[in-house]
Amino acid sequence: MLDIIVPIKQVPDMERVKFDTEAGRIDRSSAAGEINPFDLNALEAAVQLKEKLGGTVTTISMGPPQAESSIRDSLARGADRGILLVDRAFAGADTWATSYALASGIKKVGRYDLIVCGEKTVDGDTGQVGPEIAEWLGIPHVAYVSEIRDAGDSITAVCEMENERYGIESPFPALITVTKDINVPRLPSFADKMNARKAEIEKWGAAEIADVADAANLGLKGSPTRLNKVVIPSEEGRKGEVFRGNPDDAVTKVADGLQALGLLGGVK
Ligand SMILES: Cc1cc2nc3c(=O)[nH]c(=O)nc-3n(C[C@H](O)[C@H](O)[C@H](O)COP(=O)(O)OP(=O)(O)OC[C@H]3O[C@@H](n4cnc5c(N)ncnc54)[C@H](O)[C@@H]3O)c2cc1C
Repeated sequence: MLDIIVPIKQVPDMERVKFDTEAGRIDRSSAAGEINPFDLNALEAAVQLKEKLGGTVTTISMGPPQAESSIRDSLARGADRGILLVDRAFAGADTWATSYALASGIKKVGRYDLIVCGEKTVDGDTGQVGPEIAEWLGIPHVAYVSEIRDAGDSITAVCEMENERYGIESPFPALITVTKDINVPRLPSFADKMNARKAEIEKWGAAEIADVADAANLGLKGSPTRLNKVVIPSEEGRKGEVFRGNPDDAVTKVADGLQALGLLGGVK
């Protein structure tokens, strides 16, 4: 039996969402929210483990009230319980404060053997939140898992690092982050969707997690990252030049060219 927690983030549909280039931000009102695609793989991995070994799957998300629809979607896809951390006190959180709030919510849940996150999100894309949750909770983590070999008394996972694959065994409780290679997420049936519409979603604000979270670490107050400006790099056409003839002369010309562009720094 495994009690599994899956943190899921609601992200905008990236194929439809518009970008406000003036303000340098995503216009989240321009597209519907959906579960971050990598988190669907995390949820599927958790549900498959539950089907094989027994136990429960709880999803948890920190987000605005509309993130409730993604929690409902997770219930239709096999989760047993859904929790939304929702409060203005959580707003403006960087990855540090986001992971703190999620770790606090998980502490409040209490019992768990395994936490399964996506490897990253399609909007923020830092890949920091999963490992940070593990650090806040003081448990081991394995990132970029593409295969779970065993999850009996401990978890044995294969993770992808650069061009190498590693088999890693960790005791429970543990956190893993999974890649898209781990599985193909199931589609919810109509009946599952209808049942999920009626399910109760637990909503916790700062007051509900006050016994496990220091309010000073939440939201903007708890965020050490300061964002000065977001810039979308201008697109420049590619430039190319082919140097023929003597290789030594060609190398000198390439080096001179890079030096002239200021790309070699202090290298002489
Ligand atoms: C200074 C600053 C201010 C910000 N202010 C805001 C703001 O006001 N509003 C806002 O929406 N964003 C804000 N953000 C963005 C916010 O920090 C990120 O959305 C959030 O920390 C998740 O980071 P990420 O998308 O890189 O997740 P990643 O680290 O790439 O995600 C990895 C995994 O962690 C889990 N995960 C990540 N985020 C969540 C979540 N929220 N709930 C559940 N699981 C999750 C998922 O399993 C996911 O697959 C701000 C960022 C900064 C730097």
